[in-house]
Amino acid sequence: MKKLSSLFFFFIVFSISAQNTSYWQQHVDYTMDIDMDVKSYQYKGKQKIVYTNNSPETLERVYYHLFFNAFQPGSEMDIRLQNVQDPDKRMANNIGTEEDPIYESRISKLQDYEIGYQKISSLKQNGKPVKFEVIGTILKVDLNTVIQSGEKAIFEMEFEAQVPNQIRRSGRNNKEGIALSMTQWYPKIAEYDFEGWHANAYIGREFHGVWGDYDVTIHIDKNYTIGGTGYLQNPQEIGHGYEDPAKKLKVKKGDKLSWHFKAPKVHDFAWAADDKYIHDKITGENEVTLHFFYKDNSKTNENWKKLQPKTAEILAYYNKHIGLYPYEQYSVIQGGDGGMEYAMCTLITGGENFNGLVSVTAHEFAHTWFQFLLASNEIKHSWMDEGFTSYISHLAMNEVMDQKKVNPNNRGYRGYYYLVQSGLEDPMSMHADRFNSNFAYGISAYNKGEVFLAQLGYVIGEENLNKTIKKYFQDFEFKHPVPNDVKRTAEIVSGLELEWYLNYWTQTTNTIDYAVNEINGKEIILENIGTMPMPIDLTVTYTDGTKENFNIPLRMMYGHKPTNAKVLEAWPWVQPIYSFSTDKLVKAVAIDPSQDMADIDKKNNLREAK
Ligand SMILES: [Zn+2]
Repeated sequence: MKKLSSLFFFFIVFSISAQNTSYWQQHVDYTMDIDMDVKSYQYKGKQKIVYTNNSPETLERVYYHLFFNAFQPGSEMDIRLQNVQDPDKRMANNIGTEEDPIYESRISKLQDYEIGYQKISSLKQNGKPVKFEVIGTILKVDLNTVIQSGEKAIFEMEFEAQVPNQIRRSGRNNKEGIALSMTQWYPKIAEYDFEGWHANAYIGREFHGVWGDYDVTIHIDKNYTIGGTGYLQNPQEIGHGYEDPAKKLKVKKGDKLSWHFKAPKVHDFAWAADDKYIHDKITGENEVTLHFFYKDNSKTNENWKKLQPKTAEILAYYNKHIGLYPYEQYSVIQGGDGGMEYAMCTLITGGENFNGLVSVTAHEFAHTWFQFLLASNEIKHSWMDEGFTSYISHLAMNEVMDQKKVNPNNRGYRGYYYLVQSGLEDPMSMHADRFNSNFAYGISAYNKGEVFLAQLGYVIGEENLNKTIKKYFQDFEFKHPVPNDVKRTAEIVSGLELEWYLNYWTQTTNTIDYAVNEINGKEIILENIGTMPMPIDLTVTYTDGTKENFNIPLRMMYGHKPTNAKVLEAWPWVQPIYSFSTDKLVKAVAIDPSQDMADIDKKNNLREAK
């Protein structure tokens, strides 16, 4: 028996260390040649990818995403839209009344010439045709030859595609009249990582991808201007505002132009095109060129001009507070259906409200750091992207727009409290498509995710939080960080144990509620009524009018944040009641006057002595 258990112990230790010390990520390089017909909204594509299997496993199969297939009646996206309790208003028409809405999926009404599709004409692995199967928005490929660990495989594909009517994110003729919002538009290899394949059907949420280099040529009607991911390689042959005005243009004759883009070290490629774009450029910090593409419109032109220096200020803010933007350009493009982030660019709508325009730009630009550089799996951990983006963009807006907010993340807290009260909360680390309502997903990912960071500042201290964000970026840029990486970074910076914080906040719907129960002369009695423990900041007012701050560490943190407050004995979470005595007679006690702790019932946080 003894031998067996020591052998068992050996295996446990071995498997844990093997998983934690051997980080790897797959790599893929794309070369694509795309021929777009702007009249039929159809395009033909040739795609060659060189896929490197850096995993320790042998691959017998690969998966691709065929996102545009979602925009067909009967697709999983369509069926979900018809069954979810609160469909996205952009994707459903209300055919009932305002009081009694009946939602009809817009996808269910698409005609053949309006749907989206990606049809695979041929696929070869290392020069030989390979078997594939289309399963909705996923292409499953059983390989001819396995890809051994460390080996490369070449996949060559020909496909035909149709751009759907704009329903969600991508599509033709969005409500502001942009002809082509070309996002999630090409057959894209799914991510394979330490957890295995992430061949998620396109149902509603965003995407995840494999790092690599893109080389994309797009042939399109010569009157169309393209904005998107990647550096244009032939600006003098294109013009459209990309050219060096000091040099001569060499535009070839013919109906179409061939735009050649290269994008190094990205995990997606997106573009938009329109025949009426205005294209402006300015230079931001570190010689980064900021491009702006928008429709000529007397109602919005002025705001799109005023947005440009603000975008440069936002870039500088993120450079300073997260880490340096590593690419040479970024493009803010009118397109899509709201605001959606892509590699080196964003597609946004709006412009009539200047504050709204800057706000959506600040948000989407921040995604460059929290999704396009720190490429966490947004489908699994949407809070790491939307939440962190919300956190930093609200701080940026406060500075850039001179909002003078004492707590710029206040709305995040308010949203979270609203979600708790609704009773509809799902755990934050649910798969993004599987939340029971769009309402719960939205508040959880954006607001509760924002509070994750804001409140982490309360737990480990503001300075430590700022250092954590920078170190997290420095250590995991161009990788695929997971929740534990955020936690470990904060632990290394602060020297505090934070497993409990990650567990309670992201994996449960437990809530925080502390109360001041009693004041007896010099004795203060506190109670943990809630289901998530926290360290406690306390301000005590004495009967002589003076005040004193205290900090009660949570025992399982094995330490406390840097503080000027008087640090008391640690509080073990299993213990509901905590009492201590002061030197003077107490008049009043307040738990966390900063309100940075997301205590769901603030009424019992304050008490005056009787
Ligand atoms: Zn976002």
